[in-house]
Formats: sequence, C-alpha cells, structure tokens
Amino acid sequence: MFQKKISIGLLLLILALSAGCSKAAGDLNLTIDGQHIVVTHQTYKDIEAKVNQDEEEDFDLPLDYLFYQNGVPVVDKITIVQGAESSSYDWAEIASHTFWRNTREIEINGVVYLVDNLLVECGGFDEENVHSITEIPLITARVLDIPFMEGAASSLLPLESTEHVVWFFLDGFGYQQFMTASEQGLIPHLFGLGDFNEAYTIYPPKTSTSTAALLSGLDSRQNGIWATGIRNLEVPSILDAANDAGAQVRIIEGSSTPFNYPGAEITLSGDRDGDGSTDDNVFTNAQTAIEEGIPDLLMVHFHGIDDVGHTYGPYSAEWESKVAEIDTMVGQLIDTLPEDTLMIIFPDHGMHAVLDEGDTSLGNHGNLVMDDMAIYIILVRK
Ligand SMILES: [Zn+2]
Ligand SMILES: [Zn+2]
Repeated sequence: MFQKKISIGLLLLILALSAGCSKAAGDLNLTIDGQHIVVTHQTYKDIEAKVNQDEEEDFDLPLDYLFYQNGVPVVDKITIVQGAESSSYDWAEIASHTFWRNTREIEINGVVYLVDNLLVECGGFDEENVHSITEIPLITARVLDIPFMEGAASSLLPLESTEHVVWFFLDGFGYQQFMTASEQGLIPHLFGLGDFNEAYTIYPPKTSTSTAALLSGLDSRQNGIWATGIRNLEVPSILDAANDAGAQVRIIEGSSTPFNYPGAEITLSGDRDGDGSTDDNVFTNAQTAIEEGIPDLLMVHFHGIDDVGHTYGPYSAEWESKVAEIDTMVGQLIDTLPEDTLMIIFPDHGMHAVLDEGDTSLGNHGNLVMDDMAIYIILVRK
C-alpha cells in the first residue's frame, strides 16, 4: 500500500515536470556546451526550406546547419541520447555522413536514430577574439576610404589609409594546412609576413558561399547565400560600393568564377599552357595587372592548393609541392607591388582528408570542423 502511494506520487511528479517544460513530444532537446535549446518542427522546416532551394524530395540536409544556426563555429563532439542510452561521436569522423531527416530524426552513416536529446561540445580556437572572413571587405573599404558597412566594427582596425589593396585568395589553404606547411618549411614567404590573425570562415565552408561573405561582409545567415548554387548577392557588396566611389576593382581568376562579380574587371586565366594548373597563368596575369598600373583593389585567386588537395589529399606529396609553388609566386608578386599597398592574405576555407574507401577524392571541405572552418587573415603593408 505504501509502495503504491510512492508510485502514484512519482507519476504525479513526472506529469507535473513534463507539463512545466515547454518541449512538446515532437521537439528535439538540443544542448550546446550546457545551454539548452528546444528545436521545434518549424525550425527544422525553416532551415530545410532555406537550404533545399530546389525543393528536391530526398534532399540531404547536413546536421551541421542546425549547429551553425545556433551560433556554433566548430563542433568537436556530439552525443545522441535515446531514452537511457547514449552514444558519442567525434564530429570530424561523422560530419560528412550525418544528415537531419526530421525534427528528431538524425541519420549517421546511413542509420536513422530517433533522438530525445542531442548534446554538442564546441571546438575551435582557444582564443576569445577570433576574426571572421566578413571583416576583410570592411577593412578594405576603410583603408581605401570607400563608404561600405558603415557602423560595422573590426578589432583589426584602425589601419592607415592606403592607395591600393591586394587580396591574395588562397583557395582551400586553411589555418590547419597553413600551420602544417609552415612546420614543414614549405611556405617561407607566407610565414615570414607576420601579423597573422586567427579567423573563421562561414558555413558551409565552400568557395561560392565564402566568396559571398567576402564580398558582402555578411555572414551566410545574413546575406542569403547559405547553400551552394547561388551566384548573385541580393545585399550590397564591396564591388558595388567601390563602383559608387569610383574605385577600380580587378579580379584575376583561374578557369572560372565561383561567384558573379558585377562591376569588377575580370580576367579568366585558364590553363593556357596546358600544364594541368591555372596558377602559373594567374601569376602571369597578376604580374601584368600590377605592371599595367595596379587598380585600387586587386584580387588574385589561386585555386591550385584546393584542386590538388581534392585529388591527392591535403598533406600529400603533390599538395606539398603545390603549396611551395604558390608560396614562391605570392612572394614574387609581393616584391613587385608598389609602396602604399595593403596586402590581405586569406583562404576561403580549409580542407579535411577523406579516408573512407570508395570516395573518389582524397580531400574535401564543407563541414563544421576545424580543418574546414579555421582560416587566417594576414595583413601586411608595403
Ligand atoms: Zn574554395
Ligand atoms: Zn574545394
């Protein structure tokens, strides 16, 4: 009799507790570094609609989107809780095979789990003051006296005004790759530049989405370019602002442009000599652009490290020689730049090694992991 009373009391307590909690039966309990968030079906639908722009039926929505939406730059570990059971995963190992199927349904390596609680441990830089790729156009506009992003702040400012800005855009050569290359002595020119600032790119860390952030100074959540396949901004860009201010912008690209650059003079370098790389052609065209009279803003986009990383893997012998080659090219271009130039050296994203059998490439990027998200901004004045 006494035992029964306790059971009824316990049942009442459970009922009272569940009534007091705002989480409905179909919601997902998300905990990020100890902070609780209730994820409703509406949140799932909103994110899904923004990412799946073509409304494909069996669309794979990376779970990374849920974390980034909640302000996480890098995930270290996740734990899925189902009733009394829980399993933890190293995010770097599963991120590219983990999809969000419905509010509480998470697919990991082809298996769908109905999740009660999802616990997330963030990773990333230890430092508090980490910069963002979105600060690059802001800094550029300020030093060239172009009105853009007025009211926005960056702790990399103030910097003295300058005649020219050159962006060395090193595709796929992220923070982790830079550090490894410098330990191996592959990048004496880049490493010797100094004033190295830790930063994050935006999610998803892909060339087109990162370029949208680079041009707009806005995060992917704010500029509308939250998935690949979109080539135009619907928010103001530094290219528009430069045009309005009468400043000249020239962009030296490889074989194609990852994004539309309205208002800029674009040079598509291609692989003119058929040696399998556009970098030497980009280098020659950049040299010519500097000799002809450097514009206010010159962007030089080297694609080779990313291409070789996809094909042979980051840190492969082929990758190492490509990194050394681009380091030399950047060093030579810097030597030819006129005085009163601010150089900004940065990548659009990093890259992680792909180890799974059956994958056709040995390197990729696109996840909320340190290898892909961590970048740097190097500022050098000449
Ligand atoms: Zn890229
Ligand atoms: Zn790539």
